[in-house]
Amino acid sequence: MTDQPHVVILGAGFGGLGVVERLRAANVRITLIDKNPYHTFQPLLYQVATNELGPSAVSFPLQELSNQYANLRFIEAAVQKIDLVNRQVLVAGQPPQQYDYLVIALGAVVNYFQTPGAASYALPMYTLNDALRLKAKILSQLEAAHQNPALCDEGALTFCVVGGGPTGVEVAGAIAELLRSDFIKDYPNLPTSRARIMLFEYAPDLLGPFQPALRNYAREELVKRGVDVRTSNGVSQVNAASIVLSTGESIKTQTLIWAAGLQANPLVASLGIPLAHGDRIPIDADLQITGHPNAFALGDIAAMKDAKTGAPLPGLGAVALQAGEYLGESIQRRLANQAVEPFVYCDKGTMATIGHGAAIVELPLGLTLTGLPAWLAWLGVHLSLLHTAEQRNTAIVDWGWNLITGRRGESGLSTDAKTPA
Ligand SMILES: Cc1cc2nc3c(=O)[nH]c(=O)nc-3n(C[C@H](O)[C@H](O)[C@H](O)COP(=O)(O)OP(=O)(O)OC[C@H]3O[C@@H](n4cnc5c(N)ncnc54)[C@H](O)[C@@H]3O)c2cc1C
Repeated sequence: MTDQPHVVILGAGFGGLGVVERLRAANVRITLIDKNPYHTFQPLLYQVATNELGPSAVSFPLQELSNQYANLRFIEAAVQKIDLVNRQVLVAGQPPQQYDYLVIALGAVVNYFQTPGAASYALPMYTLNDALRLKAKILSQLEAAHQNPALCDEGALTFCVVGGGPTGVEVAGAIAELLRSDFIKDYPNLPTSRARIMLFEYAPDLLGPFQPALRNYAREELVKRGVDVRTSNGVSQVNAASIVLSTGESIKTQTLIWAAGLQANPLVASLGIPLAHGDRIPIDADLQITGHPNAFALGDIAAMKDAKTGAPLPGLGAVALQAGEYLGESIQRRLANQAVEPFVYCDKGTMATIGHGAAIVELPLGLTLTGLPAWLAWLGVHLSLLHTAEQRNTAIVDWGWNLITGRRGESGLSTDAKTPA
């Protein structure tokens, strides 16, 4: 124990790690708590699911941070309750953690919008375990159809994706590429001509927040790759071997990927405070939980707002990371009794990829990119966002291997040492 202020950070995602990076040399004692022993880089999970990257490219062990930063202790445990009144956090299997400063960065969880059957049969895409489960499912469907092509009549090769945002578009595009890659040669009896990839979106357009020209480009590229894009069309029921659409149509499928929505981490209920937008933690302009000094929330769990317009900020890694970095700095300013400015998000643009050589980028001031330049920009940005040099090297080698050989899977240099159980 020391007399240094104790900063407890809940969640080692983009937001939590942003705070850690800015406080690692500060005169504070940091306790970082996450239920997983690794950090997950969610934007590339779909590449793990489609066998393009190995798990070690999108995750790294959090214990490494304890080894690197003298002021940090990592606890692998599930947070169970946050007590803002008594300034403590209850953690499974641990004594209560008293804090001087609290950072809540516990992210979001899948939202099935109470769609019947979805919780039982749909495959979400939000955690590393989800991605590995989806990869196993896709490979087992390929194997089954290879062994018995007649199973295609039952939808064995019908891959359905619900949600036409970046995640849904990226997964659908990646499955289309997987089915066209040399990897498929491992399944010589596979009737690939009977494979179907279907993407459903309730709204009239894919990729709602992007400019219309970019949305149209993405749709055309998906269609070129063989994806059956159905907009103004949702999934209203999920069964073990079929789905029912909002139009009443029934489709035989054993693989429904859920990329349709998120809700704040359910732990928000333990705070006992009125929430914003239904499920988000209300915060002030300096990310402090309204009415609770020295307790802060950021990222997907918080009602993040644009400082100038007051409009909600999107649930993006960039928002969470910048907020985390800002908060790490502002905690130091508070400790030094200096004034704290509001958090201002710097929008450097948004992007989504459809497949090799095809992506969309929307930059501030309305500038846009499509095609190969956009895809190269997407590669560069995602590489730079990966947390460790080892992750970047692994991703470069795996991507290079896939591009050069036309095959799928890890180059052999990736290691599964950090793969979750
Ligand atoms: C498939 C997918 C693709 C995405 N693509 C992009 C993209 O291309 N660009 C982009 O900017 N953003 C993207 N995002 C969004 C981005 O990943 C999130 O906005 C960002 O991760 C939010 O950061 P966060 O710190 O709030 O939460 P997270 O990064 O989700 O971190 C939350 C952490 O809390 C931990 N946790 C949760 N519950 C508990 C508990 N009870 N006890 C202990 N620990 C707990 C989790 O294990 C996790 O480590 C994508 C998201 C997904 C799911």
